Amino acid sequence: MITVHSKALDKEIAIEREIGRFGKSHRGPTVIFFGGIHGNEPSGVFALHRVFKVLNREKPDARGLVIGLSGNMAALARSERFIERDLNRLWNREQVSLLQNGGLNGQSQVPDVVEQMDIFHSIQRIFREESGPFFFIDLHTTSAPSPPFITLNDNLRNREFATKIPVPIILGIEEFLSGPLMSYINELGHIALGFEAGSHDEARSIENHESCIWLMLKATGLLHKAEIPSFQAHYDNLAGQSNDGKHVFEIRFRYHRSAHENFIMRPGFENFQKIKKGDILAENDKGPIHACEGGRIFLPLYQKQGEDGFFIIREINPFWLKVSARLRRYNVDRLLKYLPGITIDPEQPKRFRINRKIARWKVVDIFHLLGYRREKTTERYHYFSRRKFDTHAPD
Ligand SMILES: [Zn+2]
Repeated sequence: MITVHSKALDKEIAIEREIGRFGKSHRGPTVIFFGGIHGNEPSGVFALHRVFKVLNREKPDARGLVIGLSGNMAALARSERFIERDLNRLWNREQVSLLQNGGLNGQSQVPDVVEQMDIFHSIQRIFREESGPFFFIDLHTTSAPSPPFITLNDNLRNREFATKIPVPIILGIEEFLSGPLMSYINELGHIALGFEAGSHDEARSIENHESCIWLMLKATGLLHKAEIPSFQAHYDNLAGQSNDGKHVFEIRFRYHRSAHENFIMRPGFENFQKIKKGDILAENDKGPIHACEGGRIFLPLYQKQGEDGFFIIREINPFWLKVSARLRRYNVDRLLKYLPGITIDPEQPKRFRINRKIARWKVVDIFHLLGYRREKTTERYHYFSRRKFDTHAPD
């Protein structure tokens, strides 16, 4: 048990790993929410605490099970993003196989890894004891002011589910970040997305998280609209904060801040603010940092911890979203290997290798359209692989 403090409410609550649980999984889906994977983001924890209070009081007829889990409890107790390592960058394949085999190579002294181990076992227990389909929603907040939005790995099932919530969607974050929790869950074949509610210490972020949780309970089919207290108010709350609701953006660029870099974001940027190529966005020891292309600024860093300086995003035309869904369902990608400069990777038959000298056209855009993620880029080649469980769930 730990005590979590909310600056926004000037209030403390005591929580366990499991914040709450309501319903039975044999009647429908199992919906799992995480709050506080980053310890300086208590908003999700407080929102879950409130929602479970209402569920336990009103006792609606839940067709399924909802579980709330707290994230980095060691960091939550100290109101810090993490202690030594960012818990939302630890879920890569190598680390997960270490967790599975119980050999952590000396990391067992790292508090954040101890948290990860405990969360890993909590998830495994849920898979063992409960029935699917499983939905995972990770509740976060940002350092800059922001309207609420959803981040997800661009597979069609994620994308279609997310459109039930009236906030903008950001696609493809997993190409730029290594090891977020939701990407790991996604690779297992379950629907998984992140919900960012606003800035860390605003009361409004807690309200937005609460609205998100209720809307998700409806979207997963766990509750009917009529069983949700003030459903319309929650819907209007989210829809009303952003005229970009229902808009979809893709990440074009990430500024990676190195550990010893004296990175300072220019003050005053808000999430989704429009920027032009060449605008000065930040500075470091070497001088000003300019926007390499136009678009909108996304997740500008206004806190000491964190390695993403800022991102640049761009809206995707709804026409292309429809086209991409069609092409993926018809597996048009089978034809890719006939194009000049594109071969199957000799080392990994499920991966395409693109010769950057030969294929000079908009390779990255086209592969994204067809449901591929860029795994890496070398001087000579791009490497793309198809996102798993894009159009259907695992058997
Ligand atoms: Zn976060």
